[in-house]
Amino acid sequence: MAKKIPTRLYLSEDETPQYWYNIRADMAEKPDPILHPGTLQPASAADLEGVFCKEPVRQELDETTRLIKIPDGLQDFYRAYRPAPLIRAYFLEKELGTPAEIYYKHEGTNTSGSHKLNSAAAQAFYAQQEGLASLSTETGAGQWGSAMAMACAFYGLRLTVYMVKVSSEQKPYRKALIETYGAELIPSPSDTTEAGRKILAQDPSTGGSLGCAISEAIEKAVKTDKCRYVLGSVLNHVLLHQSIIGQEVKAAFDKYDIKPDIIIGCAGGGSNLGGLIAPFMGDKLNRASKTRIIAVEPASCPSFTRGQYAYDFGDTAKTTPLIRMYTLGNGFIPSANHAGGLRYHGMNPVLSKLYRDGFLEARAVVQTDVFDAAIRFAKAEGILPAPESSHAVKVAIDEALECKRSGEKKIILFGLTGTGYFDMTAYMAYNAKAMTDLIPTDTDLAKGFSSLPDIPQNRC
Ligand SMILES: *Cc1c(COP(=O)(O)O)cnc(C)c1O
Repeated sequence: MAKKIPTRLYLSEDETPQYWYNIRADMAEKPDPILHPGTLQPASAADLEGVFCKEPVRQELDETTRLIKIPDGLQDFYRAYRPAPLIRAYFLEKELGTPAEIYYKHEGTNTSGSHKLNSAAAQAFYAQQEGLASLSTETGAGQWGSAMAMACAFYGLRLTVYMVKVSSEQKPYRKALIETYGAELIPSPSDTTEAGRKILAQDPSTGGSLGCAISEAIEKAVKTDKCRYVLGSVLNHVLLHQSIIGQEVKAAFDKYDIKPDIIIGCAGGGSNLGGLIAPFMGDKLNRASKTRIIAVEPASCPSFTRGQYAYDFGDTAKTTPLIRMYTLGNGFIPSANHAGGLRYHGMNPVLSKLYRDGFLEARAVVQTDVFDAAIRFAKAEGILPAPESSHAVKVAIDEALECKRSGEKKIILFGLTGTGYFDMTAYMAYNAKAMTDLIPTDTDLAKGFSSLPDIPQNRC
């Protein structure tokens, strides 16, 4: 008889992965290069190093190295909160009455409450190695700012976080957490940068936006000695750092000879999904598996399912390099949705290419259904999921119920990217039945697409 799978699939310290896995090395067709917005030529390391740290830039442009060693000084920090629990959802399976096996990787056990710490720690580690004194970044929902504040405290770097003003008002505890770890928090737009002052002059009462906060953070990095800018999603080096998630799952699954049929992850900029699926996508690219991979996004911000595959800016101020990705247009403003971490107009270029080439499926879901699923999961498994993570929970439950109908005993894995303890306003809205589902019309989307850059690469 097959051995019983434990509720927690442990990895000991010497079984934990020593390498990140770079999906691009196994892609026969690579994603299109990042372009310099002025010359429209592929961006060079020199173009990017004025803004970002050197080693992450090297990783960003590396399409050939399959396995990249996780530096010892970073492994030390990872060991403080990793390996992240990989849990067999026995209680949820029972509650659903499904023959499917459900597993989830729980990235919310660290204080910042999400997977974002995996890349925050890596980026802070490299900044310290390069002799930098400080970093700057933006945060929308607050998870990335919290993760960076923790990482900078550990590696002894100063940090300035530009937090979208409405968000800093709506999520005071996120703001407090970031400040507790010693970072300077500036509600954006602010009068501390030219970009901020310009936006304030146009609209003094604005609540700010992620695009504006990005512009402020980049300006701060460029104008401050020994300071660089860090980003928490979308870029390839962030995806690479997050591959620790999938590498750990693969190591644990291999121990018990488990082969997932379906892998599900929520997708904002794509970093947790790209990290979770990395080694499994590698097997798929090498024709060694038929695992289905599903990206889940909010119906209010449907980059994969309704976006265009085009070159676009990463920010609304149109200052970043151009990235070919599924995008709703840098000018697209998603309606208020409680999954703040999924409100981004674009998607990581590697995942975009894989979706384009049919290696990845995508599904959009509405937030009331997402919260129904979140609460069903919370009651069965005891963990209150982040609204972002609950998108994956929703589709995992749907797939498990599909197995119940068909009688198939599939193996389902999903990423539980974080906990929802800082998102109680969202749960309060749900409990008060005050939550709405706002889906953009084609006219809304057309407005976003009209902000795409008018360059030759977008016309063919
Ligand atoms: C930021 C965030 C996400 C979405 O970001 P990705 O880069 O797409 O992973 C998902 N879940 C949580 C908890 C987050 O904080």
